[in-house]
Amino acid sequence: MYLHLNAQDPLIKQLASAQETEWFPELPPYDEAISDVPFNKTDVDDAARRLQRFAAYIQTAFPETAMAGGIIESPLYLLPELQQILTDRHGLTDTGRLWLKADHQLPVSGSIKARGGIYEVLHHAEKLAVTNGLITHQSNYAMLAAAPAKALFSQHEIAVGSTGNLGLSIGIMAAKLGFKASVHMSADARQWKKDKLRTAGVTVVEYTGDYGEAVAAGRAQAAANPYCHFVDDEHSAQLFLGYAVAGERLKQQFATHGIEVDSNHPLFVYLPCGVGGGPGGVAFGLKLAFGENVHCFFAEPTRSPCMMLGVYSGLHDQISVADIGLDNRTAADGLAVGRPSGLVGRAMQRLISGYYTVDDDELFRLLALLADSDGIFVEPSAAAGIAGYGRILAENSAYRIRQRFNRSQLANATHLIWSTGGSMVPDDEMQNYIQQGRNLLAQT
Ligand SMILES: *Cc1c(COP(=O)(O)O)cnc(C)c1O
Repeated sequence: MYLHLNAQDPLIKQLASAQETEWFPELPPYDEAISDVPFNKTDVDDAARRLQRFAAYIQTAFPETAMAGGIIESPLYLLPELQQILTDRHGLTDTGRLWLKADHQLPVSGSIKARGGIYEVLHHAEKLAVTNGLITHQSNYAMLAAAPAKALFSQHEIAVGSTGNLGLSIGIMAAKLGFKASVHMSADARQWKKDKLRTAGVTVVEYTGDYGEAVAAGRAQAAANPYCHFVDDEHSAQLFLGYAVAGERLKQQFATHGIEVDSNHPLFVYLPCGVGGGPGGVAFGLKLAFGENVHCFFAEPTRSPCMMLGVYSGLHDQISVADIGLDNRTAADGLAVGRPSGLVGRAMQRLISGYYTVDDDELFRLLALLADSDGIFVEPSAAAGIAGYGRILAENSAYRIRQRFNRSQLANATHLIWSTGGSMVPDDEMQNYIQQGRNLLAQT
């Protein structure tokens, strides 16, 4: 769709220099764009029903989900304090209302990966349990916590390559069901995530290279074992659909909060992006739920802008940030991905309103502002979404200018920061993040 792979191209040059960059492509009409995605509403509804079938099991296996009836979902928070701070900091006007979708608090694994990652494990477990005559779709899935199911699953393995959070979700869920589980971790994965997995009985394999290397090694090892299911973050339809369930759920949540979305009440959503499955799947679900009235933006670190590069160049997974001289080193470990998912980029490029990159120092400032204003603690990756509010609403924002939003639309708008991870970060590590951000704020 877009073809710019000229080292002299101004946007490529800016990306290559690791400066903060943004890009808002011209998109085709919504109906045309949505029909280009190789999935549809039926697929997402099917995934939602599968999660419903598993609710009885999840509730048994993870008692912290009992209040929500075994449905793994996150709350919405209004952010009046942070909104005021960002409004002053960036001189914003027509500021609408700023909300946070608190996926950093998702039960079981504390990140957005609790959507797609857990869904894919459940999908695989259901297939095995049905094929082996243990359950039908009408059974009470609570029985999957009992010995016969564990005996079946223990003959099988689930493996994944991860920078951390996907490994946590897949590993914890797989081990709980009784699978052998192995997680192939890249060098930037945090120690506490490895420790937590080992405690849960998961085999952690460590690599000195980045995410791409861990995935390749895990994939090769899994291919040699017919009883091993490899969760392929770069190509998985199940992950994508598990994330997409968020769209309809958010729509219901908005209804309970009295939040309207229509042409006079646009919705802006800021989604941190690594390989693309999480934000891509969520954006697909949001598009199905809100159509052209939702504007989705992907946020990436300045040194790992793989999705912006892949879509802008038109090369998708055929290009990596290393090809433009970037080192893929960022404190946002959940986003430290050099090569995007081609599946997601190709499917979603006509539905994503824009892409922006954020400097690591700014991630720390933003997470400190959020912690010290509304008292919400997120990890550096999750702070990437916060930057979108100022970037899109700024007086000179290319998106705001081109879309010609009128005053009433902007005044009525809902801005939603998707906060993708953080509640499981150990206290001392979180305090270090916040202190680092405060120090940087004091310097400016
Ligand atoms: C994985 C992750 C993302 C992005 O998801 P992708 O599917 O890799 O694009 C964002 N934030 C956090 C905290 C993550 O762990």
